[in-house]
Amino acid sequence: MRFAHPFWFLLVFVALVPIVLVSIFHENFAGESAVIKVDNFLLGTLVEIQVWAEQLGDSGLRLATQQAFDEILKVENEMSLNVGGSVVQKINESAGQDQVTAPASLVSVLDSARRVSELSGGAFDVTIGAVYRLWDFASEDGARPPAPGAIAENLQNVDYTRVEFSATSGTVRLPAKGMRLDLGGLAKGYAIDAAVRALKDAGAQNFIVNAGGDMFISGRRLNGERWRIGVRHPRRPGELMCTLFLTDCAVVTSGDYERRFEYNGNLYHHILDPKTGYPATACQSATVVAKEATVADALATAVFVMGPKRGLQLVDRLTGVEALIVDADGMHWHSKGFAQFLPGGSPASR
Ligand code: ADP
Ligand code: MG
Repeated sequence: MRFAHPFWFLLVFVALVPIVLVSIFHENFAGESAVIKVDNFLLGTLVEIQVWAEQLGDSGLRLATQQAFDEILKVENEMSLNVGGSVVQKINESAGQDQVTAPASLVSVLDSARRVSELSGGAFDVTIGAVYRLWDFASEDGARPPAPGAIAENLQNVDYTRVEFSATSGTVRLPAKGMRLDLGGLAKGYAIDAAVRALKDAGAQNFIVNAGGDMFISGRRLNGERWRIGVRHPRRPGELMCTLFLTDCAVVTSGDYERRFEYNGNLYHHILDPKTGYPATACQSATVVAKEATVADALATAVFVMGPKRGLQLVDRLTGVEALIVDADGMHWHSKGFAQFLPGGSPASR
């Protein structure tokens, strides 16, 4: 479905996610400041946890947020490629050789990844690591695309169906040398879900876990309304594209503006099409709302690669999942039920 919006739609919702979210809280939630607000630099981004209106007491709240951050750190230590000795690193080092013992959390992430790979016809693929490692999206300057021959050669090792894992034995194996897992497309979502579980187990109800703009929103504002969450405009730094009214769900955005470089006048960004090994070209951003952040994160990456038509076909057949896509031309598209999150959306859901 094409999202024909009046021009004011773009003008009204403006500002930049991490900075703006903070300012939104100050503006809109005046008199409703969080009981506790803590942040920590984890998963390569600023993770912020805010909890409102709880009966847990000061020490209970502190403990709850500490447990949530502990969970995130655990996920990072298992799944990051930047943490020396992480389980994922060990699996990659053992590619073509032995299986590696893996915790249940990692096996569960691989299972979620496989489901989204199957749903998306391979647009989402955690074995993209074989090609992704050739790219340098971390350097600000001087980066250039890898040699086409190197991409073609390593693309042969991109195939999620070949990842061997078993929940029963708690093991993972990559069957060929040169295969490489990269969980960057969904590990952040999984970490958010783990933090949410810890907060709920500790008794928290009204809170937001925000990992660099990817979030889980739990409960409601003190006045009973849904939380207002800003979505960054993919082409106007410092501006919001829209404000969403959300409760008890995750919202995750994949965009071409996150990690990128320019070379010979062309833009290269960090979401690769597993069919080509090059950055996917159909979208500027894809925002997914779902009940779990792991699913939202993986689907946002998948839909970004699939583009608006195929991406929305997929989202529309999934229960409890909605998406807003900005295509390569800047046109807005949204799934059938997305309007419920917009101002003036169906009154029943407000
Ligand atoms: P971000 O990490 O910026 O929130 P995404 O969730 O879209 O953005 O994930 C992008 C990351 O996922 C890349 O940095 C890379 O690690 C990995 N990745 C890139 N392309 C794919 C793909 N087609 N399928 C799965 N993972 C991908
Ligand atoms: Mg993702």
